[in-house]
Amino acid sequence: MSHSDQLFARAAEHIPGGVNSPVRAFAGVGGTPRFIRSAQGAWITDEDGQRYIDYVGSWGPMILGHQHPNVIAALQDQLTRGVSFGAPTAGEIEMAELVCELLPAMDSVRMVNSGTEATMTALRLARGITGRDAIVKFAGCYHGHADSLLVNAGSGALTLGVPSSPGVPADLAQHTLTLDYNDSAAVEALFAERGQDIAAIIVEPVAGNMNCVLPQPGFLQTLRKVCDDSGALLIFDEVMTGFRVALGGAQAHFGITPDLTTLGKIIGGGLPVGALGGKRDYMNALAPVGSVYQAGTLSGNPLAMQAGLATLHYLREHQPHAALAATTQRLVEGIAAAAEKTGLNCPAVNVGGMFGVYPGHVSAPTNLDEVKRGDVALYQRFFHAMLDRGVYLAPSAFEAGFVSLAHTDADIDATLAAAAESFMAIQAS
Ligand code: PMP
Repeated sequence: MSHSDQLFARAAEHIPGGVNSPVRAFAGVGGTPRFIRSAQGAWITDEDGQRYIDYVGSWGPMILGHQHPNVIAALQDQLTRGVSFGAPTAGEIEMAELVCELLPAMDSVRMVNSGTEATMTALRLARGITGRDAIVKFAGCYHGHADSLLVNAGSGALTLGVPSSPGVPADLAQHTLTLDYNDSAAVEALFAERGQDIAAIIVEPVAGNMNCVLPQPGFLQTLRKVCDDSGALLIFDEVMTGFRVALGGAQAHFGITPDLTTLGKIIGGGLPVGALGGKRDYMNALAPVGSVYQAGTLSGNPLAMQAGLATLHYLREHQPHAALAATTQRLVEGIAAAAEKTGLNCPAVNVGGMFGVYPGHVSAPTNLDEVKRGDVALYQRFFHAMLDRGVYLAPSAFEAGFVSLAHTDADIDATLAAAAESFMAIQAS
């Protein structure tokens, strides 16, 4: 029995399912989750001493790689001064100034502790500002686990087959209107009928919670237009895409300005953080200026601010996104080519350092139905074949992968060699 096996059995005694977030349980791929002891650069090491090239990166935050010296130094410095005060700190101002500089759609930002809090607050704010209740989301998009958003959700909810969670009152869920991602005609039709009831559209501008689905040309533009025409707010959930697909996030990459933006992951450099922001007029509807209530004991936590600031400063200074995109493109093209050599199809996509691989699909999906038509069992086999060869991919066919700046050419080469062997092993079995 491996140490991970033993730990998983022990964890299950006092932690539901042995994990503190569902996808970690390997429910999407079967087998025992690896318990991680340490990480360095692009590599993670499990409790059995096995090393893996990491394409999860803590689900996105570790864009600089694990244990980046700037982040560690910033944390060590903060540790000498205290870890939490529940009072304002200069680091929060520095964070707000930097985020507003990098994302021109924002001139005011509120820090929270997770992506879930960010999206939950953004919806409350949009409802408070517009005085409307309905919201629009897209099937397969995941925006955290607030009640209104666990309706046709992606990520672990999708992996576990509970996209609309029990425990969400039907009275609340009825205000969440779900459409297919990339279906501009359906968006227009819904707004023609109910535009005046809708407080907001919330969307992942690149969908990373049903594998990785790109917005088709015109889709995000349509969302912007129907919101402008109806007075609904457009919320870009950039928890995953922010500072990743471009320094200015998906809104810079695609040239669309949302009304509100939610952030998480990279903005905390690996510590628990989320944020929401937008124009001052909107943000001033939040307490203590306005009456839409939101608060947080640990919000703007000094350690999280310093880890996030060190990460964002590095990204602003080095502007590594073109190089990161090139590395990621080499990875996904290499995986697709390795599959083809063995007669398997494996379309693969990337936007910047975020990617999706689809073993067994004919072409890259554009919405959840197409994603679900894939061969999940084949993904599971590919996942385990790669894991056995020291490559740690997302343990679910419904999650995006992430490349960091610490992934070297040699790491990519090793990954592609593992992919070639994995596809051959799958074909042979
Ligand atoms: N929005 C998106 C787009 C996400 O990917 C996630 C988490 N993967 C969330 C919101 C929720 O963030 P958290 O897990 O920090 O609550």
